[in-house]
Amino acid sequence: MNKFFYGLILILGFISCSDGDDANEIARLTASNRLSTGDSARDFLTQDHYKELVMEIVYVEEFPPSDEALHSLVEFINQYCHKSGGIEITKRAIESPSKEFYTISQVDSLEKELRGHYNSDGRLAMFVFYLDGRYKSMEESSKSSGFDVVLGVSYRNTSFVIFKQSINSMTTSKSFALESTVLRHEFSHLLGLVNVGTPMQQNHIDPENGHHCNVEDCLMNYKIETGWEFSGFNTDQQLPQLDNYCEADLRANGGK
Ligand SMILES: [Zn+2]
Ligand SMILES: [Zn+2]
Repeated sequence: MNKFFYGLILILGFISCSDGDDANEIARLTASNRLSTGDSARDFLTQDHYKELVMEIVYVEEFPPSDEALHSLVEFINQYCHKSGGIEITKRAIESPSKEFYTISQVDSLEKELRGHYNSDGRLAMFVFYLDGRYKSMEESSKSSGFDVVLGVSYRNTSFVIFKQSINSMTTSKSFALESTVLRHEFSHLLGLVNVGTPMQQNHIDPENGHHCNVEDCLMNYKIETGWEFSGFNTDQQLPQLDNYCEADLRANGGK
């Protein structure tokens, strides 16, 4: 994918004023949002290429994002990322695709139909998808049980999905803490944590649980994604934070 992408840029450099220019340019920009998780870590962290961020949120109408949770994500982004041009949020409701379960390839196909914003000059585009139903792992899990529900997945360099119906089913109050935490966790994967686009400064990966942090109470611990032990959070101060290892990685890769 990377080679193809750079190849395309090179070719475009030699073409000028042909009718196909606009289509080629759109294809190029679209392609830059179709890479793998972590591939745009530096684009989020630094403003070498993008000073602005547009956060496009598409949600199933019955399961809208909480404004407080989105606000909390914006705070988090400003805490770690250089985006002096600001962060714009756009929201759009859709009808439910009416599925009980979604695999990542299904989520990805839906994104292709629904996404409206792609990277453009100086402006990085992120797609946040709020779905109903539940996540279905590709490697159909033997361990999938009532409390092994996945609440969010980052599946491309600028895209992640939040399973809001699953989040709602785990919280009794109107607390936005769990939703905020899952948003921050998934976004941190886009920032390249752990060791997926942002190199580790010291070893702190959890080898059994993919690109997660082995520090128990870190935001990037794998348990966060499954809503582990969320019972009574209700203020921002209590939200799980990135630990020193994760923060050091982000800084070393150009973050704040
Ligand atoms: Zn995760
Ligand atoms: Zn960590």
